[in-house]
Amino acid sequence: MTISENVSLVKEKLALAAARAGRSPSEITLLAASKMNDVARIREAFDAGITIFGENRVQEMLEKNALGAYAGASLHFIGHLQKNKAKQVIGLARLIHGVDSVALLQVLSRLAVSRGIVQDVLLEVNIGLEASKSGFTPAEIPSALDACEDFPGVQVRGLMAIPPVCRNSDEIRPYFAQMQQLFIDNGEKKYDNSSMDFLSMGMSGDYEIAVEYGSNLVRVGSGIFGPRNYTAKP
Ligand SMILES: *Cc1c(COP(=O)(O)O)cnc(C)c1O
Repeated sequence: MTISENVSLVKEKLALAAARAGRSPSEITLLAASKMNDVARIREAFDAGITIFGENRVQEMLEKNALGAYAGASLHFIGHLQKNKAKQVIGLARLIHGVDSVALLQVLSRLAVSRGIVQDVLLEVNIGLEASKSGFTPAEIPSALDACEDFPGVQVRGLMAIPPVCRNSDEIRPYFAQMQQLFIDNGEKKYDNSSMDFLSMGMSGDYEIAVEYGSNLVRVGSGIFGPRNYTAKP
């Protein structure tokens, strides 16, 4: 399968999943997770209709960006962002998905204010409460949104999660369901600098299920680019 064929197939499956869930396909955004794929492959995906790319390593993103990989498209940062690398990502990434601490929100806000911009971010939720993963616990989200009222350089646009690795598709449903509820609950109270617009969840193996639980931003990597080659250089 070519990248172009994969893009068509994923879009078709997304549309069918939306229809099954009684949703309009137009309310679900497809992001191509392009880590470990080179500029040529990213341009192929762009030519096939991908409009948003997501990268999870700062250095790799900067290198590929300098080569024009994302020209004409929107770029999101979907990885774990360290505070000392925030200044390289801010303003370049239209949306930063994995913001996992109030300290990082504060750093991002300060940098954004100094540049006269507002940075859109998503709060990452450690929905499986896994020790190996970063992110806010569900219970910490309201206080993080409270804290953001003092951070005029950031606008929280929603929530993002990577649920625990599951053995089958039914195991993942409770995590997606909890995320959906969290998204709804935290959208009810109005906070300055926050709006619950995007629920970023679902990857190649489970995006059709995520759509059943309200995801409106799915991050698909191998489903578009094929298996990643971990031995090659980007
Ligand atoms: C790589 C990556 C994806 C895509 O994973 P696939 O299983 O290849 O679709 C999605 N989200 C994040 C945060 C990633 O790093």
